[in-house]
Amino acid sequence: MTVCIGERFDSMYFGSVKFFKRLILAVVFGWIAVSTFFAVFFGIKYNIEKKKTGGDAVAASSDSASLNVPDGTSLEDLYLAMSAKGYSAEDILDFLSQNDEIAVDKFVEQYMNGGQPAETEQTSAETAETEAVSETKTTETTADADAPSYTKLYPDLYAEYPKEFGEDTKTVYLTFDDGPSDNTLMILSILKKHNIKATFFMSGSTTEKGKAIMKQVADEGHAIGVHSYSHDYEKIYESVDSYLDDFYNTYSIIYDATGVKPQIFRFAGGSYNDFNHDVYDDLVAEMTRRGFVYYDWNVSAQDAVVDPTWTYIYNNVMNGVKSNSTNRQIVLMHDSADKYATVTTVEDIIIELEKDGYSFDKLDNTVPPTHIVKY
Ligand code: ZN
Repeated sequence: MTVCIGERFDSMYFGSVKFFKRLILAVVFGWIAVSTFFAVFFGIKYNIEKKKTGGDAVAASSDSASLNVPDGTSLEDLYLAMSAKGYSAEDILDFLSQNDEIAVDKFVEQYMNGGQPAETEQTSAETAETEAVSETKTTETTADADAPSYTKLYPDLYAEYPKEFGEDTKTVYLTFDDGPSDNTLMILSILKKHNIKATFFMSGSTTEKGKAIMKQVADEGHAIGVHSYSHDYEKIYESVDSYLDDFYNTYSIIYDATGVKPQIFRFAGGSYNDFNHDVYDDLVAEMTRRGFVYYDWNVSAQDAVVDPTWTYIYNNVMNGVKSNSTNRQIVLMHDSADKYATVTTVEDIIIELEKDGYSFDKLDNTVPPTHIVKY
């Protein structure tokens, strides 16, 4: 108590020992505070200047250390801290652009568009770069936003579109739609006998036995393309979405059955038909965007009619080939249970066309496609 009172009354006065003690302490602490402030201030400013004049990546990576900005510092804290030290928005943006591109976007969003900081004083090169980046982002966003929703469907439904198509050679491509069927194995045995490969545009709507046939077709080296699951024109051509639903169904079944991902397809009813005028352009664009190549035909056996005869089918194919101006002959036939007549013509067609100098092959996506012309 005595000490206490003594201290209180033995108080400081100008020139006393206590006065000098306090004065020394004040000077020392003041000096430390001021020098620390200037060290930090000029340290930051130096780093920003260095970046403006083209600091390299190593320098940039050490900047958050020299700025003493701990990882995870919020943009708000950084902004407040730096602006309190007199840095303008463009200085802060500059710092961020060297360290954290994501933070730049956030910063611009939070502080530049809100009208808080002033216009930036970037160099023209930097401005151009920033503009280019934001332009790219805008384009991407716009493209994304404008892309029809069906482009997002079935992200695994893609094929590799060929870089270019091959020559138009004197080749017959026999194609069989709508299988598998009870006739498929007979067709396979004829093809095997003549050592010929053909193409089957298949239906996904089939049985386990049908899937086994699909596998046999693939195993024997023939091409399988997607045709349709429902073959219900009104349903599948109602929209691009509904076409994709049907296509993907068949595509998946063929892939599961054969282990081969189809690259080619044939539109049910042909690529341009009475049911798809409204969706045709979008449909073709979407299937092409996904990398699939579609084939119509330039010779038709016309075996889709009721009870076609051998003579009718045979003559349609032969006359069709003779009237074509192209070398390649893409022949449409059907592989379905009620088209036995078709099966009976296949061997005769092969023999006759081989005599005429044609060779036979299966389609792959590099064969130049034949397309029905939109009317
Ligand atoms: Zn069909």
